[in-house]
Amino acid sequence: MTAAALPDPPRQGSPLRGLLPHELGAWAAAQGAPGYRAEQIFRWLHGKAVEAVDEMVNLPAPLRDSLGRELPLRPLAVDLLQTARDGTRKLRWRTHDGRFIESVLIPDEDAERDRLTLCVSSQVGCAIDCQFCATATLGFGRHLGADEIVEQIYRAAALAGRRPTNLVFMGMGEPLHNFDNLARALTLLAHPWGAGFSPRRITVSTAGLVSGIEKLAALYRDGEAGRIPGATRDASAPNLAISLNATTDEVRDRIMPINKRWPIAELLEAARRFPLSHGRRVTFEYVMLAGVNDADADADRLPRLLRGIPAKVNLIPWNGFAGPEFSRPSAERIRTFQERVRAAGMAIYIRSPRGDDIDAACGQLAARTVEGSPRPPATGSVDLVSVRPWRPTAS
Ligand code: SAH
Repeated sequence: MTAAALPDPPRQGSPLRGLLPHELGAWAAAQGAPGYRAEQIFRWLHGKAVEAVDEMVNLPAPLRDSLGRELPLRPLAVDLLQTARDGTRKLRWRTHDGRFIESVLIPDEDAERDRLTLCVSSQVGCAIDCQFCATATLGFGRHLGADEIVEQIYRAAALAGRRPTNLVFMGMGEPLHNFDNLARALTLLAHPWGAGFSPRRITVSTAGLVSGIEKLAALYRDGEAGRIPGATRDASAPNLAISLNATTDEVRDRIMPINKRWPIAELLEAARRFPLSHGRRVTFEYVMLAGVNDADADADRLPRLLRGIPAKVNLIPWNGFAGPEFSRPSAERIRTFQERVRAAGMAIYIRSPRGDDIDAACGQLAARTVEGSPRPPATGSVDLVSVRPWRPTAS
């Protein structure tokens, strides 16, 4: 893929915050404005994350006017902000067309490390239909634009009073199904005129869309990402996480229908070929479902499957929601599973559920409230200035 092969921005109501520097440059040139205006505009949008074109005070008023007219912003409104007992915060956003998406701010359990992870959504709903995931029950709404993806990050940072240190595309949706907007968002985030996020601090998680893994690999393997005008020279790949969740095609077919299209062997082949950043490993996520994928035989197969791949495994105890007939294995079963895999020499960790009391944990994001609990009042479009900056505290 070359820079020219990146998708054309939509012509109608083109979302301003989704434009790459060279696209802003082309727009400025068409206005008869000097080239440096593109850098100024980009810095306002991605460095300062302004919410209105009027705030771009170093642009001449006529240029601001035509920018506002021709390339409007489509901001996310804060619809609901919930804080869990463990300090995890769920942000529900209302999009310009009245859809709802969620992001989750997760402070590090170890306050010493001062890590703040933001879990980002890539779609309204999801088309992948994993049987154990609440987002799947929504069906597919639409792709998020690159502007809506990066806006979650900038607005969450403003609410938190600090920038997230790590970004994970593990919110609602399948990021690789929305490949063009994901690639665009990654480029915008890495740009030194903007947030300057190192790709090494970004993780893209996929249910196993092999065509998307290959496209992402091609973008970074051939250095194409670095040739996008204005891109950083260090265009290293983001981290890759794969939701494996089973050790046989029979089980994976059942719980993740995408496996019928790309079975485990093909998925692992794509993982093997992924151009990892130096010293990085592929993360394999494994949602623990009692009686489904938690047997000793699974624990024995897992390291054999992953042999030869620089890998680590995260076990995620299943987080419940109303509907499917799954249950979480006992803590003892999960530990035994972990120990069996570890004995085979594999790095494997148990992820403790974060924010599950407010449905903010993995697989619980459905942009709605807990069944039976009263619907909290929508706060409408909260004025960010009036929301107290928040810092994670040790729990
Ligand atoms: N579509 C992407 C990213 C979103 S899901 C993907 O599939 O990777 C993020 C993680 O949550 C995935 O590893 C998924 O397997 C896991 N997950 C989904 N539902 C879950 C649930 N109910 N409990 C625990 N983890 C879940």
